[in-house]
Amino acid sequence: MKLLIERSVEGRRTHILPESDVPQSPLPAEFAREEPLDLPQLSESDISRHYSELAKQAFGVNDGFYPLGSCTMKYNPAVNEEAAALPGFTKVHPLQPQESVQGCLEVLGRSEQILCELTGMEEMTFQPAAGAHGELTGLLLIKKYHEMHGNSGRTKIIIPDSAHGTNPASAVMAGFEVVNVPSAPDGGVDMDALRETAGQDTAGLMLTNPNTLGIFDRNILEITKVIHEAGGLCYYDGANLNAIVGNARPGDMGFDVVHLNMHKTFSTPHGGGGPGAGAVGTRGELKAFLPGKRICFCRDEEGGHWTMEERPQSIGSVRGFYGNFLVQVRALTYLLDLGGGGLREVSANAVLNANYLRTLLAPYCKVATDGMCMHEFVLDLGEIKEKTGVSAMDIAKGMLDCGMHAPTMYFPLIVHEALMFEPTETEGKETLDAAAEAVIGLLKKAETDPESLHAAPVTTPIGRPDEVGAARNPRLHWGE
Ligand SMILES: *Cc1c(COP(=O)(O)O)cnc(C)c1O
Repeated sequence: MKLLIERSVEGRRTHILPESDVPQSPLPAEFAREEPLDLPQLSESDISRHYSELAKQAFGVNDGFYPLGSCTMKYNPAVNEEAAALPGFTKVHPLQPQESVQGCLEVLGRSEQILCELTGMEEMTFQPAAGAHGELTGLLLIKKYHEMHGNSGRTKIIIPDSAHGTNPASAVMAGFEVVNVPSAPDGGVDMDALRETAGQDTAGLMLTNPNTLGIFDRNILEITKVIHEAGGLCYYDGANLNAIVGNARPGDMGFDVVHLNMHKTFSTPHGGGGPGAGAVGTRGELKAFLPGKRICFCRDEEGGHWTMEERPQSIGSVRGFYGNFLVQVRALTYLLDLGGGGLREVSANAVLNANYLRTLLAPYCKVATDGMCMHEFVLDLGEIKEKTGVSAMDIAKGMLDCGMHAPTMYFPLIVHEALMFEPTETEGKETLDAAAEAVIGLLKKAETDPESLHAAPVTTPIGRPDEVGAARNPRLHWGE
């Protein structure tokens, strides 16, 4: 497929910008380029066809089943986009006077109220642009807390070995040292190891519950108690909130700081590096350290109005203004659309769908943990690989030829040939039945025709890219 720059034709133009309604002011000569910028010269239809062609090579939730575990690839309702396209939300400037953006402040204020109610937190910031960014923000809150208390010896963050890779990465970025705790045979945190690890050097714990094996840790109250008694704080990675939203709250489990991935639980687009949102909530003393301004509602004779207050003890901004505001508009639309009852059903159906699919697949492949799962489960293909030579990667690639996205591969790291399925609540029974049938077909093929699975996929625009090469020697510029 040709790149835009390769399609460029000298002199071809697209005029899409409206006439400027402000006086032009030429750039001072010292800032101007000496040579013109080499931009592709194209008509609007050239550009439009280019992006349509690109879009056809990608696979999204609107194309088919997308069980990418831990990522909660649910359907994003179209009404979210309608709300986010309203001119009152799109044609505003973050420096406008507060009286002129009351609706926007209300979006943030009401989002905060609802999300605090769902998580058991008291205040939130909407600045962080993703879950991982929220982790860093939350850890900086914990760091500030210990600084304010003179706890200079609390330098370690405890993280279970089933954790998402962003957890240790964020802890290190925030200046902490990471200590791993192993998982117990049931997939939960090993309590004896945790008790041994927690101590005077503990700054806090990072945990997602249910964890990446799809297991709700039944010791959760004890876990947060052990950390609190050691003088540490507890951070909740909210990436798996879809499993419990409306039914259980991290605050009630004893967590002090929470991040939420709006693109997972709250149906905003997974940006592929684009604009995202990872609100961070907290309570008690830590509230004062949140980044950004506090949104408040002041009652007056006419009902009330929204205002913003500085937080003098804030850790400082982690992003401009209010974060990716339009993402939050989409999330609030979803929250209001579903209401409390609807959200409770979301998690109930997410758990039901995961258990349904697990039950269909379990006779054909080992499941990493016994018993019921929450919103996702992990298949362990270790024995199948040993017997047939077909790996988790081969089965995942084979799924692409069946018109599905692959599950998450080789994660969590504690299961060696892992395939992690998260069907989400937005899939119907027919889709789950068809997906199970396809995967079972592939597992049987592993015995009869392993070679064909090593060769998969054969129907996609690209077969097996050199992933290591792409990561180690990325070509990020055209024409090199
Ligand atoms: C997705 C995910 C994250 C990181 O969130 P991003 O929004 O992708 O930055 C962290 N932890 C877990 C368990 C996740 O699944």
